[in-house]
Amino acid sequence: MRAVVFERYEEPAEVREVADPVPAEHGVVVRVEATGLCRSDWHGWMGHDPDITLPHVPGHELAGTVEAVGARVTGWRPGDRVTVPFVCACGTCPSCAAGDQQVCERQTQPGFTHWGSFAQYVALDHAEVNLVAVPDELSFATAASLGCRFATAFRAVVAQGRVAAGEWVAVHGCGGVGLSAVMIAAAAGARVVAVDLSPQALDLARKFGAVEVVDASRVGDTAAAVRELTGGGAHLSLDALGSPVTCAASVNGLRRRGRHVQVGLLPEDPAVPMARVIGFELELLGSHGMQAHAYPRMLELVRAGVLRPDLLVTSTIPLDAVPAALAAMGTAPGAGVTVIEPWESTTPR
Ligand SMILES: [Zn+2]
Ligand SMILES: [Zn+2]
Repeated sequence: MRAVVFERYEEPAEVREVADPVPAEHGVVVRVEATGLCRSDWHGWMGHDPDITLPHVPGHELAGTVEAVGARVTGWRPGDRVTVPFVCACGTCPSCAAGDQQVCERQTQPGFTHWGSFAQYVALDHAEVNLVAVPDELSFATAASLGCRFATAFRAVVAQGRVAAGEWVAVHGCGGVGLSAVMIAAAAGARVVAVDLSPQALDLARKFGAVEVVDASRVGDTAAAVRELTGGGAHLSLDALGSPVTCAASVNGLRRRGRHVQVGLLPEDPAVPMARVIGFELELLGSHGMQAHAYPRMLELVRAGVLRPDLLVTSTIPLDAVPAALAAMGTAPGAGVTVIEPWESTTPR
């Protein structure tokens, strides 16, 4: 099969022929029809993820059809349309037993702990716990965008953030996960303030339901701007980018007893304004993907048209274009979601 491989961190990846994967007893191999390009892939390529061993194939936001099943898999068959959470769970540890597969103690992550989906096929472990059926009316490109960013945003806003209608929700960073969070919070009836450096990203945030925007390229103190727009601070605020600046701004933009949810990955632990956390009794929450069994509620909202992840997909590229696109993620993550179609063989000109 063809796959995007890198031998060293920060050095250009290349597309080459590698051996086809085979399923584990409890796993499947999926023919990848679409896979999203995500900032986490860039972090992996930069060497920020200790799970990665070289050479490596990235890619963790995938959708496709089951190609082969392991001997012990009974619930899935070749041809089934599927996606997976980026955190694939073991199904048997105490966290899995409690229903918290998103923080599984023996989790695997395609594109991090093993070769991922920037390839024509990908192997996935513990299929019975991790596969999610994709409805026929959902395109593979849309389904791929659910696997990481949209599902992550859904859990961050709804489950961890406990969004309520009428609340002010601030979203710092309007890339794929941030725009997803804007759409999900707005659909829940919240009033959303979107914060980003890019006017293009802020235009999209407005399109997806933000009622106020803060242009961080022109406003020095974005937290003060959020407090002003929301009459004293947001009830819920997300750092969807993952930087020391956006993390602190998210916390500083909260009202008393507000909730901060950290979604964006941070290469290093940032300085958090803990005096404000104490004095205002703020909650600091993490959010780590979403477990497979929580997908049906989200998929139903997608099927009903309440949530429109398809609108987030702004470009589609073949495998050949991935090395350059991956390298560009660091400086130009873009305002929407790029989806890779591994069976398209030529670079668009
Ligand atoms: Zn587990
Ligand atoms: Zn991702």
